[in-house]
Amino acid sequence: MINERMYELGSKRSVIRELFEFGRKRAAEIGEENVFDFSIGNPNVPAPDEINATAEKLLDTLPSPAAHGYTSAQGDADVRSSIASYIEQAFSFPARASELYLTVGAAAAVTISVRAVTSSPDDEVIVLAPFFTEYSVFVGNAGAKLIVVPPKKPGFGINFEGLEKAITANTRALIIDSPNNPTGVIYTEDELKRLGRLLTEKEKEFGGAIYLISDEPYRDITYGKVVPYVPKYYPDTIVCYSYSKSLSLPGERIGYIFVPSQTYDAPKLYAAVAGAGRSMGYVCAPSLFQKVIGKCQGLTSDLSVYRTNRDLLLGMLREIGYECVEPDGAFYLFVKALEDDACAFSERAKKFDLLLVPGDDFGGPGYVRIAYCTSTDKIRRSRGAFEKLFADYRK
Ligand code: PLP
Repeated sequence: MINERMYELGSKRSVIRELFEFGRKRAAEIGEENVFDFSIGNPNVPAPDEINATAEKLLDTLPSPAAHGYTSAQGDADVRSSIASYIEQAFSFPARASELYLTVGAAAAVTISVRAVTSSPDDEVIVLAPFFTEYSVFVGNAGAKLIVVPPKKPGFGINFEGLEKAITANTRALIIDSPNNPTGVIYTEDELKRLGRLLTEKEKEFGGAIYLISDEPYRDITYGKVVPYVPKYYPDTIVCYSYSKSLSLPGERIGYIFVPSQTYDAPKLYAAVAGAGRSMGYVCAPSLFQKVIGKCQGLTSDLSVYRTNRDLLLGMLREIGYECVEPDGAFYLFVKALEDDACAFSERAKKFDLLLVPGDDFGGPGYVRIAYCTSTDKIRRSRGAFEKLFADYRK
């Protein structure tokens, strides 16, 4: 018998995919340049030349089975050592190769982490709205319950009152991502200190570990604010990192999980991470790209275009009259819809070939997400469409 839940996941397109497909259709009708598709968070800057050069060199120099062969399940030892050294140097935080587990991007890292810390249908995993929509799939995969803390408006920082109410004896983990998808907000050091205190108190009250899963694919895309290193503020933190966005390598599927030794029951947790990866059939992260990123620690694509795009888009939309959340990082702008129903607003925007993702699936109704990882020229040319949409509501 076919698994209905899997059938549903595989056959029902996400809103983002629906918009993307609509964009493809319109591009065939009116030309690519006339469709303002802001739906998908696919980096538009090329990976640095060093990435291709490193991959080519590895292919030329590594003997054939080693270049494409399996690595150990947790990842190549030299690569893990190189990541550990980078963490120590960049964040002044102790890290060892034996605390790192290489993954198929952040999606796998978060899925594996959730699986590793949950075991019963009563187990609860908290997310702070608005949140990356796939978290509901990742938590569902573990058979655990997703608990959503309502957003803190208008700034979209951490809603401590909501979070405190949401934590129960069944809470096993909280997932955060900072800079956040879809708001671009970075949680401040003060917020993380307060979060650390709250989680520590709740661990004491309920007598068990509450793991903080810090999903960090956007850590390197920032506009002036520092992203504090989360394990410094709460010991029971699991870091999930990805090279998809910082190095523009989303299709190569490479990232890692870091279980610092300070984390509660760390050796057992690390083994459970390996077990969760094994149980989901990951075997190992892509072998060639493990070795590439091992040699390219600290390198990023030229991320400056995201700042140019953010400044341009934010200035332009505010001038027209839209209410926007100012992003500190990532490449998303969260904009207040011009009516309460963001789905209806997104539908109306399609009339002007503007593809904006309604915030509802992110747990942020009343807003739309604009992914500005697109060409600066396209953003500039989209002004007319945003003006027409605004005027359409003033009629
Ligand atoms: N986490 C967040 C917050 C994301 O936005 C994304 C992708 O957009 C992912 C995880 C998955 O990224 P990856 O390509 O590394 O699996």
